[in-house]
Amino acid sequence: MKQCTHSEALPHPEPAPLAATCPECLRDGTHPVQLRLCLTCGHVGCCDSSPGRHATEHYARTGHPVMRTFEPGEDWRWCFVDHVLV
Ligand SMILES: [Zn+2]
Ligand SMILES: [Zn+2]
Ligand SMILES: [Zn+2]
Repeated sequence: MKQCTHSEALPHPEPAPLAATCPECLRDGTHPVQLRLCLTCGHVGCCDSSPGRHATEHYARTGHPVMRTFEPGEDWRWCFVDHVLV
């Protein structure tokens, strides 16, 4: 399995969430299915099951490599670059 180096380069402590929900969905009038938090800048975006896929769009726009789930009770992180849980 590929070794992810991006998680080690993340800021500590993790950035505070910039919003309570996906701001792009608010703008577009779409509804997030689940939320993801960018661990580089605190951007909140919706998952790939949501119509807008704004977390993935955020990665495509910024190159910020790692996000974590922003759902209560869940605890996992995903590296967009390596396509692995980290
Ligand atoms: Zn990585
Ligand atoms: Zn969204
Ligand atoms: Zn970001």
